[in-house]
Parts: sequence; structure tokens; C-alpha cells
Amino acid sequence: MRRKLAAGNWKMNGTGDTLAELAALLRAHPEPGCEVLICPPATLISRACAAVGAAPIRIGGQDCHMAEAGAHTGDISARMLADAGASHVIVGHSERRADHGESDAMVRAKAQAARGAGLVAVICVGESGAERDSGATLEVIGRQLFGSTPDGATGNSTVIAYEPVWAIGSGRTPTLAQIAEVHDFIRSELLGRFGAEGTQIRILYGGSVKPVNAAGIFATSNVDGALVGGASLTAADFGAIVNALENA
Ligand code: PEP
Repeated sequence: MRRKLAAGNWKMNGTGDTLAELAALLRAHPEPGCEVLICPPATLISRACAAVGAAPIRIGGQDCHMAEAGAHTGDISARMLADAGASHVIVGHSERRADHGESDAMVRAKAQAARGAGLVAVICVGESGAERDSGATLEVIGRQLFGSTPDGATGNSTVIAYEPVWAIGSGRTPTLAQIAEVHDFIRSELLGRFGAEGTQIRILYGGSVKPVNAAGIFATSNVDGALVGGASLTAADFGAIVNALENA
């Protein structure tokens, strides 16, 4: 049985005062009926962990370097994230792929580094608008999924996030049938590659998830939760999405 996961990606948003939203989320969901993960900027990870304390909300990073340590100015290793209190790390977000030229091979190496540090890797894949329009969605997802996911991935080490690039921050979402098609495809690829373990790997949908559309998305085939950007920045919106997932 896969535990549902509501994950928030704060991206490059938030300073110390933003942790008030995390505190409000904790007050509203002291014992959430699904797994809840917040990925604040790296500068806030330690303080977010302190704010959460023993409560069952997890804190994650938004990226890690593939190397354990070394001359990589400005980068953060998986072990550093774990040391700061993180339990998860997002890798291969489309903004990293676009802004930093991250290839599938780099994302796979980052996911491997995450596993080595004991972190759960949330591996993002997603087609561009042009790729969807040209009918290449499943081919692109299959290629990214294979290239970005390390051998030996398990449900404990890995979460996949399907995030169509054209849906991120745009207010546009695929139809539920389109989401089901991609999630079912990802599930069958995971089963083909990892056997029974492929049933344990959670598949999140991401891209303009809001309180108003969350319930429909969560009722869709092979959707185990969401990776949420903009709507994770306020406790009111993210809490409503957590509610929808608890009731899914
Ligand atoms: C994201 O960037 O991971 C994301 C899903 O963003 P948004 O929810 O704002 O579309």
C-alpha cells in the first residue's frame, strides 16, 4: 500500500518570516492522514526542521549536487541536506533542467547521491508544450524516466513526480484522462524495470495543483499525491490540498 504524499516546493521563495506558514500548517494538521513534505529554500531547512520538531511533517531540499564534497562553489551535497535535517530532495525539476542544463544522466547521479545519503529522491519528469502538441509525451516521459532513475530504485528511496512543463505555474493542467494516461504509463514502466518494487514507488502529479482541482486529480488512476509549487506557499492553500489528499 503506497502512502499518499503531499509535497510542497517553495522554490526561491521564503525567508525566516515565511516559516509562520509552516507553523500554521502544523497547527491545522498536527497528525496528517497522509505524508506531508515541505521543500523550502536551503537557507531555511535547519530552521524548518526545528519548527517541525517531532511533528510528522518532513522537510526536503530542492536540489543536491551529485558529488559527496569538493570544489563546487554554491552547491550543496545530499549529505549536507541530510545533516541539516532533510529527509527528501527534489532532483531534475524542469526549472533545474532548463536553467542549469541538467541532463537525465546528471539527474540520475543526483538521485544516486541522495540514496547514498539516506534521502528519498523526488525525481521530476515532464514534457514541454511542444512535445505534447507533437504527440511525443509518452516517448519523452519514458526516456526521462529511464535516464533519470537509478538502477535498484525502491519505494523507500524514490518518488517520481510527473510535471508537465507547460502546466507549471501556468494555471493550466492536463485533463484527468491525460494525467491518467501518463501515470499509468509510468507505473507500467516502473513495473517493467523494477518488478514488484515498481508497485511501491509513488507517482506524484505536479503542475498548477490548487485547492479547487486537487480532489479530481487525487481520484485519478495511479496518482499517489502531488508536488505543489505556488499553492504550497500558504498554509491555507496547501492545507486544503492536504485535506483533499487525506480524503482521497
Ligand atoms: C512545481 O514547480 O513543481 C510546480 C508544480 O509548480 P506549480 O504548482 O506552481 O505549478
